Amino acid sequence: MGIELTWEWLDGSPALDFANTVLRRGWTEHELVTSPDALSSWLDAAALPAPRPATVTDDDVEAFLHLRDASLRLLRAAAGHGKRQAGDVRTLNEALLSCPEVVVLDESTGSPVARPVGSPAPFTLLLAKLAGEVRDVLAGPRPDLALCDAPGCGGLFFRRRTNQAWCGPPCGNRARVARHHSANDH
Ligand SMILES: [Zn+2]
Repeated sequence: MGIELTWEWLDGSPALDFANTVLRRGWTEHELVTSPDALSSWLDAAALPAPRPATVTDDDVEAFLHLRDASLRLLRAAAGHGKRQAGDVRTLNEALLSCPEVVVLDESTGSPVARPVGSPAPFTLLLAKLAGEVRDVLAGPRPDLALCDAPGCGGLFFRRRTNQAWCGPPCGNRARVARHHSANDH
């Protein structure tokens, strides 16, 4: 499909970086995490709430997409696009329950620190932490959560101003051009 994986639109929020792994070309959505290599490039570019594993497999891609799809639908629903589905909530909860954490005291600093129970695989732990980030956005609540409904985008973002419609000026320009063209078609 020829989309170069620059990930330049990721903006440092782990939950949104996780969700913004599909991209519109025009109005068509494209999956970007199509292989372990693509997942690995996202792991290098995204804000991660836990360390990335050195390598990832096809199974990791599958697990990533399973949780990402549910998270994306839940976040879009919270941004007013679609309805929250119980099955997606269940998927998120399963990821959270797969790596329970306990707050203990750090041996050297004496400060509270969350530690996973047992020894989960690094990628399982990372997905659980990402699920936690998505939960925190959903539970916020974050009224500034919005979907940029422009051609070539479709990304989730946090509004910096009330009534901000687009994630950035380029999307506003593309949306205006698209509207102008569709007006001329009729
Ligand atoms: Zn946008």
